[in-house]
Order: sequence, then C-alpha cells, then structure tokens
Amino acid sequence: MVATVILSMLCVHLFCFSVMFLLISTRLHGKRMGMGIFALGNLLLGCAYMLQLVDGPSGWSLSSVVNHTLTLCAPVAYALGAMRFFNRPTPVWTPLLALAILYTGAQVLVEWTLGSEARHALLAGACALLFLLMTVAALLGTHTFARDLPVEMSVFAILIGGICALNLAKLVMILTGGLAALDMNSSFQMAFYIYMSFLGTVLPPAAVWLVLRRLTDALHDLAIHDPLTHLLNRRGMVSGLETHFRSRTAQPAYLLIVDIDHFKRINDTHGHKVGDLVLGRVADIIQATARLSDLKCRLGGEEFVIVCLESDGLGAMHLAERLRLAIEQTDLASPALHQPVRCTVTIGVSDAFTSSHAFDLALQQADAALYRGKDAGRNRIEQVLHIKPPAPATATA
Ligand code: GH3
Ligand code: MG
Ligand code: MG
Repeated sequence: MVATVILSMLCVHLFCFSVMFLLISTRLHGKRMGMGIFALGNLLLGCAYMLQLVDGPSGWSLSSVVNHTLTLCAPVAYALGAMRFFNRPTPVWTPLLALAILYTGAQVLVEWTLGSEARHALLAGACALLFLLMTVAALLGTHTFARDLPVEMSVFAILIGGICALNLAKLVMILTGGLAALDMNSSFQMAFYIYMSFLGTVLPPAAVWLVLRRLTDALHDLAIHDPLTHLLNRRGMVSGLETHFRSRTAQPAYLLIVDIDHFKRINDTHGHKVGDLVLGRVADIIQATARLSDLKCRLGGEEFVIVCLESDGLGAMHLAERLRLAIEQTDLASPALHQPVRCTVTIGVSDAFTSSHAFDLALQQADAALYRGKDAGRNRIEQVLHIKPPAPATATA
C-alpha cells in the first residue's frame, strides 16, 4: 500500500515536471538546453511507473514488456538531454527508437529462453550499467565539459551513483531470491521507490537551476560585451578593473585609447557594412596583440580601450607601438571586401593609475594625448603630458 502511494506520487511528480520542462523549452528560443528531451525522459519514466501501478511488477505481458523498455529508454533520454545541455548536438529519436526496438526484442528472447526472472534481471543489470556510465560521465565532466559546474556535477554523480547501487542490489536479489525481491511491499522495493521519489523531487529543480545558471551567465555576458567585436564594453571594463584592484597585490594599470584614423572615410567609400568588418578586424588584432590578462574594450564607435594590468609605462608604450604597426601593416581584405582596405590608428596612453575610480581620469588623460596625436598628423602614439611643477623661486639678494 505504502509503495503504491509513493509510486503514485512519483508519477505525479514526473508528469508535472515533464510539463514544466516542456514549457521552459518553449521559452528558450534557439538553444533549448535539452529541456524538451528531459521532458520526454520524465514522460517515459512516468508512463513506465503508471504501467507498473496498473499491472504489478513481475508478470509476462505486453504492458510489462513496454514498461521495461520505457524504464530503460527514460535514463537514455536524460543522458541525451544532458548532452544537448552541454552543447553536444546529438540525435534523439533514432537512438531512442533503435534502443526501444532492440531492447523489446531482447526481452522477448530472454523471456522465451531463460524465463521471467532473467528478463527482470536483464533490466536491473542494464539500468545499473547505464547509471554507472552516467555517474562516471558526471565525474569526468567536473574536469572537462562541465568545469564550471563542479559542485553540481559531483552531486549528480552521487545521486545517480545511488540509483546505480540500488539497481545492482536488485540484480543480485533477483539472481539469489527470484521474483520475490520485486514484491511491491518488500522493504527493498519500498526503499527503492522512496529513493526514486527523492530523485524525482530533487533532480528536476536541479536541472532548472542549471538552466537558470546558463541563462544568467549568458545575460551577464551580453551585458558586459560589445555585440559587434565581442570585446568588453565600458561596463565590462569597469567591472574588470574593480576585480583587478580588489587584489592586494594589484599592479598599477595603464590605459591606451585607440582611435581609427579617418574611419568615416572608410564608411563613406565602402559602406557601413565594410566599416563594421573593419571594426571587427581591428578588434581581432587588438585581441591578438595585447596580453590575455589585459582588458580590451570597444568604448563606442571606432574607439577602443586597452588597460594593461601587468606592465609598466615602457611596456604600455611598447604594446601601443606593436598595435599601431600591426594595424598599419594588416591588409583588412576579406571576401566581403572586394578591394583591400587598410587603416591606421592613433593611440593615446595614460599615466599609471591604481584604482577603478581613477578610470575616468586615465581616460581623459589618454583622450587628451590622442587628440594631440590626431593634430600632429595621426598614425602615431602620444603619451600623457607631464606638467612639470614650477621651478622653486630663487631668492634674490
Ligand atoms: P579621426 O581620424 O579624426 O578619428 O576621424 P574619423 O573619421 O575616424 O572620426 P569621426 O568621429 O569623424 O567619425 C567616426 C565615424 O565612425 C562616424 C560614424 O558614422 C562611424 N561609426 C560609429 N560607430 C560605428 C559602427 O558601429 N559601425 C560603423 N560602420 N561605423 C560607425
Ligand atoms: Mg577616428
Ligand atoms: Mg573617434
């Protein structure tokens, strides 16, 4: 009786979360993160448990065969959904249908040749193997495809490991004690369904949490990056500076402002689209020339800012020169550009600054230097002017 109530509640959970996954999936335009497949997994498992409730566990009948096939297909659907979540595009219907046909055939064969016990043992063994593989994959994921989710993947590995152990125990009990082990009111089946019910309650919100994390990470990424060049935007730059200067060992920073010379002419001659391509190519050169640890940002229009975080004044000037030369020498040709386009940049370099609050001042200094560079003929580097303090007045006799 208790097992029946637990199993009924588990079915309700599975169907409710199946609908919820489906609703979430319809809201995720483009990248659905496997939500639709998780919904399918829940539906398959819910149907399997419904058949179990209606039919009882151990008889040889069509619904029992369907029940076993659904029970095996459900975790495979979860695994395929997880692959989609981790950006591994994978077919779903073909492998699931192939598995369903193969496993149904295997069940018929085993039932005829070895009997009902062997068919139930086959399901417990197949599930144990499948969950073992999923546990290992989750553990490996903490070092590879899910490096950003170590805690979540470890928890998944423990939870899936638990169901693997229960299936293994079920296999041993069937092999040693026969189908009596599957009696709905046996303490083992009770423990089995309580654990499944626990998983049915814990895993779906955990999957929703993972989707939420991915969405908020993507949102944060959008908020701090420039969509055209994929460099940081001003907000991302300030946030990066705050992170840098929070460290007690943070070095002073230098700011370079890079402005493309006569960019309006490129737009006027080749069109706005080519202008956008040129902005992208200049951003690529900035990415390739500056250090990984430097903050690289498109401030707006054809102006870029680089903040050197682990350098000195001389290093910042060297970077500016490398950058100026690289852009001058690069032929910005691409299939979209029917003729080669070249451009030059003028760069203004600020003084050292040691806090994120000083960013605006550094920007003003570099901007003033930049405009001196523009006035002096462009394609050059100018540093902030150091106004010398007035010489101390000499005492006159
Ligand atoms: P200078 O050498 O003095 O810097 O001259 P400039 O032509 O580069 O500078 P100006 O400020 O006169 O023109 C900047 C141009 O950049 C004008 C604007 O239409 C263009 N622009 C701004 N944002 C974008 C963009 O996102 N894409 C494209 N293609 N053009 C842009
Ligand atoms: Mg310009
Ligand atoms: Mg400008």
